[in-house]
Amino acid sequence: MSEALMSTYARTDLAFERGEGPYLYTADGRRYLDFGSGIAVTALGHSHPHLVKAVQEQAGRLWHVSNLFWSPEQEKLAGRLVAHSFADKAFFCNSGAEANEGAVKIARKHFAAKGQPEKWRIITFEGCFHGRTLAMLAATNNQKYMDGFGEKVGGFDQVPFGDMAALKAAITPETAAIMIEPIQGEGGIRSVPTEMLRALRALCDERGLLLILDEIQTGMGRTGKLFAYEWAGVAPDIMSLAKGLGGGFPVGAVLATDAAAAGMAPGTHGTTFGGNILAMAAANAVLDVMLEPGFFDGVQKRASYFKQQLTMLADRFPDIIGEIRGQGFLMALKCQPANTAVAAALREEHVLGVLAGDNTVRLMPPLTIPEKDLAEGIHRIEAACLRLRGTAKAESAA
Ligand SMILES: *Cc1c(COP(=O)(O)O)cnc(C)c1O
Repeated sequence: MSEALMSTYARTDLAFERGEGPYLYTADGRRYLDFGSGIAVTALGHSHPHLVKAVQEQAGRLWHVSNLFWSPEQEKLAGRLVAHSFADKAFFCNSGAEANEGAVKIARKHFAAKGQPEKWRIITFEGCFHGRTLAMLAATNNQKYMDGFGEKVGGFDQVPFGDMAALKAAITPETAAIMIEPIQGEGGIRSVPTEMLRALRALCDERGLLLILDEIQTGMGRTGKLFAYEWAGVAPDIMSLAKGLGGGFPVGAVLATDAAAAGMAPGTHGTTFGGNILAMAAANAVLDVMLEPGFFDGVQKRASYFKQQLTMLADRFPDIIGEIRGQGFLMALKCQPANTAVAAALREEHVLGVLAGDNTVRLMPPLTIPEKDLAEGIHRIEAACLRLRGTAKAESAA
């Protein structure tokens, strides 16, 4: 398509003109079921009336004031996030990678302010994804993403996913924190077992380390609770948020306990755009909807229907779907054929999924999707499986 866009993405040859709930429409009127929600971003679907109204009204009043002044909209959002999480403090930024950078800076400054500046290293896990800034490339440690970008940023150590012995062995007097996604998203929807999260918490307490949860993808209701850590009943010291936070408006946040954030004094961190008032209006509107009594009961109920239906498809099409992974509306098909072929077949049936690692296709409908649209999605995924089977038959006959 456009020659002017830098070719950092191998884009699908589709463009959308408008969206409504779980549906996207092309300019020529073709309708797609959006099971990507951007990439786990549009948590309340497209053009949610409450979000549209909140952003429109705020745009007409005031849309930017610098962080040199108080912002009632920031204070409101911070207060609500803190009231509904483990945290005491919130810092707002513009993206996930920036939120993780903030999380790492808070952890390092915590120890520096305590007179332990030597504690600055962060342990991460194989298969993780923490973003594309130079430091988050080092945290992620995926050679494919780092190639050609010079020397890796220091201060990050990586251990195999789920290997407690390797983790313990990797802790040194220089270790400040352990950073982990409760469910690896880009890595292929690999869940950290509840016992493992609890063991991580205990290990951090025992060794005096901070636990950083990257809930950029799992947070804001994706797993059926506001934050995924709630399922395990253990809280982190620092947590990063982005993706669903603004329902599609770019915004990120770092939440921390007072103790973890003790080193953050004026001048230690900053951002020009972070906490932008339109972003705050969007995120506050998202919370208005999510904090309604019964919202997550509805999400969990419809998500369990979705999982049950997907599991039935996996039973019927073991040659296509090897396994169903995930929780809530953060689901994935572990594919038998190439995940690109499965995503293409889904697209033929007008369902949009998102590729992830370990040969998976993620299915992340908006949290608000009605059961009838989920049922339609299941029907179309079934059609995609039949389509893939037909292709396989034709190939083996040829
Ligand atoms: C998407 C994502 C990021 C990066 O967020 P950006 O907004 O793209 O910078 C970091 N961590 C996780 C777990 C993510 O899913």
